[in-house]
Amino acid sequence: MDEPVVGEVFVPTVEEEGGNIIGLGVFSSEKIALNVLKDYFKHSWKGKIISANLARWQVDLIGEDALTLLAKWSCQVCPICDRPTFWIDLDNFSALCHGTACGAWMEDNIYETEVIDIGLPAIRWLHQARSIKQAMTEFKKKAAEMRAAGGDVDDEMVDYTMEDAKTRMERILRKEGSIGLGTALGDLPSEEE
Ligand SMILES: [Zn+2]
Repeated sequence: MDEPVVGEVFVPTVEEEGGNIIGLGVFSSEKIALNVLKDYFKHSWKGKIISANLARWQVDLIGEDALTLLAKWSCQVCPICDRPTFWIDLDNFSALCHGTACGAWMEDNIYETEVIDIGLPAIRWLHQARSIKQAMTEFKKKAAEMRAAGGDVDDEMVDYTMEDAKTRMERILRKEGSIGLGTALGDLPSEEE
């Protein structure tokens, strides 16, 4: 995104249940700050983390103009692996489970923004939903199916990045054709159920 400019710092923070804010450091570039945050996402199951954000602060500037909120995420329990490592990017409506051995993801369809693509790279499963809530329901159905089939969700999966997921999605979409469901995005569910 923005080029690193002298006089700016990038500050990733996470919020615990109850409102306690944990700072993850102060960094000279957005890229590093984001990497630190994404690395933290893998371990969010260790604490009661509910959200995260990445802020840019201008140094030596007094007042609220010094702060720019670059991105914010909500931490949810992953509908596939049941760990609180499913991070939803609230600005771009995309999500990825950062838990080791999962990789469940959802993202706006690249052609139709009102459609959400969801997937599980390890089993090459791709699906579409009309809202985040519906996407979570589809994930849970799939997880139940996998359990019923005797497959252990965790054992078969490796650590996927969003880039892996996107590349796979592109390939599958090209092969099968994009299907639009054509309805508006639902509101982000505030609670799991
Ligand atoms: Zn997961």
